[in-house]
Amino acid sequence: MFGFGQDIGIDLGTATVLVYVRGRGIVLREPSVVAIDKNTNKLLAVGEEARRMLGRTPGNIVAIRPLRDGVISDYDVTERMLKYFINKVCGRRIFKPRIIVCVPSGVTEVEKKAVVDAAEQAGARKVHLIEEPIAAAIGAGLDIAKACGSMVVDIGGGTTDIAVISLGGTVVSTSLKIAGDKFDEAIVRYMRKKHNIMIGERTAEELKINIGCVYPRIQEITMDIRGRNLISGLPKTITVSSNEMLEALEEPAAAVVEAVHSVLEKTPPELAADISDRGIVMTGGGGLIYGLDKLINYKTGIDVFVAEDAVSCVAMGTGKALDNMEVIERSQAMRRRIEYE
Ligand code: ADP
Ligand code: MG
Repeated sequence: MFGFGQDIGIDLGTATVLVYVRGRGIVLREPSVVAIDKNTNKLLAVGEEARRMLGRTPGNIVAIRPLRDGVISDYDVTERMLKYFINKVCGRRIFKPRIIVCVPSGVTEVEKKAVVDAAEQAGARKVHLIEEPIAAAIGAGLDIAKACGSMVVDIGGGTTDIAVISLGGTVVSTSLKIAGDKFDEAIVRYMRKKHNIMIGERTAEELKINIGCVYPRIQEITMDIRGRNLISGLPKTITVSSNEMLEALEEPAAAVVEAVHSVLEKTPPELAADISDRGIVMTGGGGLIYGLDKLINYKTGIDVFVAEDAVSCVAMGTGKALDNMEVIERSQAMRRRIEYE
């Protein structure tokens, strides 16, 4: 099934891990969650299976999202998760793959080294790291090698990365820890304050995806959810409307818009003019929240496009980078290159 020199691209996201195999496309897409037995330190489940355990584990089992806030909170767990996914895709084979990993842009040099080590231990012949905004831009189909400014806003679970790219490199960028998870948390807080009802993060995410909005929906919609009434302590079902979501999500949405604004302010005028001609491209699952494109457009006056298959952009970008190693190596997209000595 795998030929010699089979290469792999990995989007090691805060919420989702995607694996791209050269010649085959995206072959794996699983939540970045690991379940561990604390008593024995044994890995119980990884990915989707572990995600189902979040918030439902007995005392001795913990379900962890090791990259949750865009930093590697637990090296050991991250390493095991990465190895698990690489082995799942590669199986046991003789030829070692080259691997490009895209890590959240907030991770430190030490954390990056840990990712490289983990990929090497999992059997990589050579490991490259790629910057997230560059991978997202390539994946979204932007021609980043041109002397023309592009702005990419990638909103994941833990981090929002905003970057202006020209000639294959990042000119101005910022990374903030306000992304999909913070939208969920804002919904949890809102439900507690407004309705005296405690809901779980999974329910909050469902609300966000189904009826959430940060710009008024054309037609108001509602959803029934279940939570625990904080006064009676009993389970309760209530109907929530999209207009309430608008209120609940106002704060994190404003923070994202503000960050886009501040990057635009720091962008050299020629590149800013390019962006205003070509528009802003949004990638990542968090960018799919209803109305964020409209809100950014409304606040900046610049057109905003949500990339096709926004959730897969970074993984697709690592895939295209595999096809084009030389170009990538010439450009600044490769921040580090670590080879076997
Ligand atoms: P990461 O790159 O950090 O792993 P992803 O790009 O996979 O993150 O995005 C994950 C985030 O996207 C989660 O917060 C999830 O709730 C959110 N998300 C996914 N689909 C949608 C949707 N249709 N509407 C709103 N948010 C979404
Ligand atoms: Mg991502």
